[in-house]
Order: sequence, then C-alpha cells, then structure tokens
Amino acid sequence: MVLGGSTVAAIAVGLVYGKGTRVWCRHLCPVNGVFSLLAKLAPLHYHTDKGAWEDYNRQVRQGEAVRHAAPNCAPLIPLKQLDSASDCHMCSRCSGYKNAMHLEARKPGSELITPSRDRPASIWEFVLLIFGLLGVAIGAFHWSASPWFVQLKQAAAVWLVNHDLMWPLETTAPWWILTNYPGQNDVFNLLDGAVLIGYILATGLVMGFLLSGCLALTNRLLGAWSWPRLWHLAYALIPLGGLGVFLGLSTTTVSLLRGDGLRMLWANDARAALLIACSAWCLSLGWKILGRYASGVRRLSALGGVALAIGVVLAAWWLMFWGW
Ligand code: SF4
Repeated sequence: MVLGGSTVAAIAVGLVYGKGTRVWCRHLCPVNGVFSLLAKLAPLHYHTDKGAWEDYNRQVRQGEAVRHAAPNCAPLIPLKQLDSASDCHMCSRCSGYKNAMHLEARKPGSELITPSRDRPASIWEFVLLIFGLLGVAIGAFHWSASPWFVQLKQAAAVWLVNHDLMWPLETTAPWWILTNYPGQNDVFNLLDGAVLIGYILATGLVMGFLLSGCLALTNRLLGAWSWPRLWHLAYALIPLGGLGVFLGLSTTTVSLLRGDGLRMLWANDARAALLIACSAWCLSLGWKILGRYASGVRRLSALGGVALAIGVVLAAWWLMFWGW
C-alpha cells in the first residue's frame, strides 16, 4: 500500500502539476530526503562557477556571446546557485551552460565537511538521518531476526487470550496491506501487524534518542550550545546510514540465494569489513567536521561523542548479524 500508493500519487501529481518537471521528486517524494543525504557523498557533482556565469552574461550584453535558452532542469534547481549535489538528478542538461556549469570531481564527503552556503545542514536532515535512516530503517530490517519481537508478540497474544479478545488473532488483512499468503503458510494477523509497526517505531525512537544524546554530548564538548552545529555534526553518520540500507536490503538477497543452494559463507565477513571501513570513514569525517569548530583537546574529546554514536549503530548491526 505504501509503495503502490506513493506511485499512484506521483503519477497523479506529474499529470496535473508536472508540466515536464519533476515536482514530485523535488518537493513531495518521501524517499527524496534520503537520496539528498546520500548524494552529499558523491565523488562527482555539477557545480556552477559564479564568476564564469557573470562573465558570460557580460559577454552577452556586449554582443560577444550568444544568449542560450535556459536548460530544462527537471527538479527545478536555481542553476546559478548550484553547489550542492543534494537536489541534482545529474541529468547533464545544464552541462556547459553559460560556460559556467560543469561536471566536476571532488573528494567523497567534502560536502559533508563544508556544506553548501545556500543549503546548510537542517533539523529535517537531522531527524531523517538519526530517527529515520538510522532508526526506523534499522527497526524495519531488525524485526525479522529479533527474538525481542517474538517475545513481545507472544506476551501480547497471551494477554489477549487471557482477556478473551480473540479478534486481533483471527483477523487478517488483504495481501497489499499485511502479508497474507495462506498457501505458503505465511499470514499476518492484526496482532502481528500492530506489534510489527510498534517494534519498528520503538526502534526508531530508541536509536534516535541514543544517537541524539551522543551528538548532543559532542556538541556540548565543543563549547556553548549551537543548534546549527548539532545538525551539522549528524552529517558524520551519513555513510553508516547509507551502508545500513545496503546491508538491510541485501539481507533478503542473501537469504534468497541461500535458499537456492548458495552457501554464501563469506557474507558475514564482508558485512564486518564494510562496517569497519565505513565506521573509519565516519570517524575521519567527524574529525574533519569537528575541526571547523574546535582544535586541540576539545576537538579530540568531542570525537569521543562521535565514536560513541558510531558504536551505537554498530551495536544494532552486531545484534542483527552476530548477536541474535
Ligand atoms: S544536471 Fe540536470 S538536474 Fe542537475 S542541475 Fe543540471 S539540469 Fe538540473
């Protein structure tokens, strides 16, 4: 229902308001925020050289250059201000425009250390990353492996039976709302659905508050409290957020391949290697971000808060792949 509903909404918005643009992607798509965060890691980006832009305009005024129609930027980005990869869809339509817009290489993660002036770190990005990508998403991947989920469901079922409330155990929903494949012995009742949603939301809140606490500690260790700095500190965890989505989604792939007879004994070693490499990257990004606000002992002690946050995320993945 979530995927189908948003697809239908995207088609409807495109037909009514789109007029050749990607208004849905830019302003309404629920996943666009995640792509915007991950795009900040991109090693390539389109960038506008404002000096070259002004030069070209001067040449046009003096009749030395031809005025070209503005490219049709589907996500409706103000091209002159473009210096963040977040909203850009890399379609290349603006490449070479006014001799000022070009595809350029950059250090992966450089936008995290020095955010675009027109697009500084925001509270929405903080919430999306800390409570969403590193919270709700981890809960959505966790539940199928979690013994806590099973215990919670059993306790709720016993309570319902003891109180003679059988309908949540006997009622199911159509397959497009809750899993319902009786032929394969795979049916969720209303209790399963409610516990599932509760578990995912609770994981989101627990992870979100734990990580917020670590980053708040880092923020305080850097000096007087600053909200913009707190939003910026969260950027250090974006690589782990991206890796988490990859690890979570590829778990299904690995299970399917195992079901087809492939043993995939290396899967957990590969996961461990990716988590270690990604944590090292987050720590190094954290160190560089902290360098914008402090130096010396203060910077080093604040790095402890970032390391703590990385430890919380690693603990969640350890539980899923090794602990349980
Ligand atoms: S590459 Fe495409 S999406 Fe990105 S700024 Fe240029 S026209 Fe817009």
